Amino acid sequence: MTEPKPFDWDVILDRLSAFYHRGDWRVPYLRDHAENPFQVLIGTILSQRTRDENTDRASAQLFAVYPGPRELAAAPRAKVERLVYGTGYYRTKAKHIRATAREILTRFDGKVPADREALLSLPGVGPKTANCVLVFGYGLPAVPVDTHVHRIANRLGLVKTRTPEQTERELVARVPPQYWIPLNPVLVQHGQNICRPNRPLCDRCPIREYCATGVALRDGRRPPRREDWAGGKGRRRRAPRLRPSRSVRATKSL
Ligand code: SF4
Repeated sequence: MTEPKPFDWDVILDRLSAFYHRGDWRVPYLRDHAENPFQVLIGTILSQRTRDENTDRASAQLFAVYPGPRELAAAPRAKVERLVYGTGYYRTKAKHIRATAREILTRFDGKVPADREALLSLPGVGPKTANCVLVFGYGLPAVPVDTHVHRIANRLGLVKTRTPEQTERELVARVPPQYWIPLNPVLVQHGQNICRPNRPLCDRCPIREYCATGVALRDGRRPPRREDWAGGKGRRRRAPRLRPSRSVRATKSL
């Protein structure tokens, strides 16, 4: 039985960065390219439960008219709702972003706080959004955990968790802080392209030898998550999802 290799984050991040042409992850590129923290905050609230392209379109429309907290705080509700309509839950999101803009003006003197607890006190801001502001707005180490990071961390066998919040706590405890900043961007890209929710392309994965799921499926064994195993019991309505690699299937059919 083959075991996955012990996690070597230098190698794992090297391979994923090279695979997705992200450049050298050791360069603090997020810090160098830290964007407007206010727009990172509002864009991340808009990105909740929607696709990236919807967020990009709505953010561009919104920031063209209301680029900062002062403008957005004074914006008419109906106009903001129209601009963010394409992201879904547009009434709630419009309410949250206008309220957040007002609180940034009144409580934080117009500057987005670079502090997790202060960020979490703003309307519409949960752990992932707060961590995105720290990482992408300020270049500070944090681990934003979205559905991709949560799924891949469990598939890798790095954590065994049910919720993104549990995953964040485990990752913070297990991954050394120097790797936190590049972790989210490379894993999100990996989740959108190779380690997809339903049919991950393990045969093409550059980190398969480190992955408990990839190694188990190659060997025809049960992986860490029951839903990733076509032979698992009790989830038959959702199976089959993953299957052993082509070479294993070919071997079995001989
Ligand atoms: S080997 Fe498969 S399950 Fe593991 S990270 Fe790669 S694509 Fe995802």
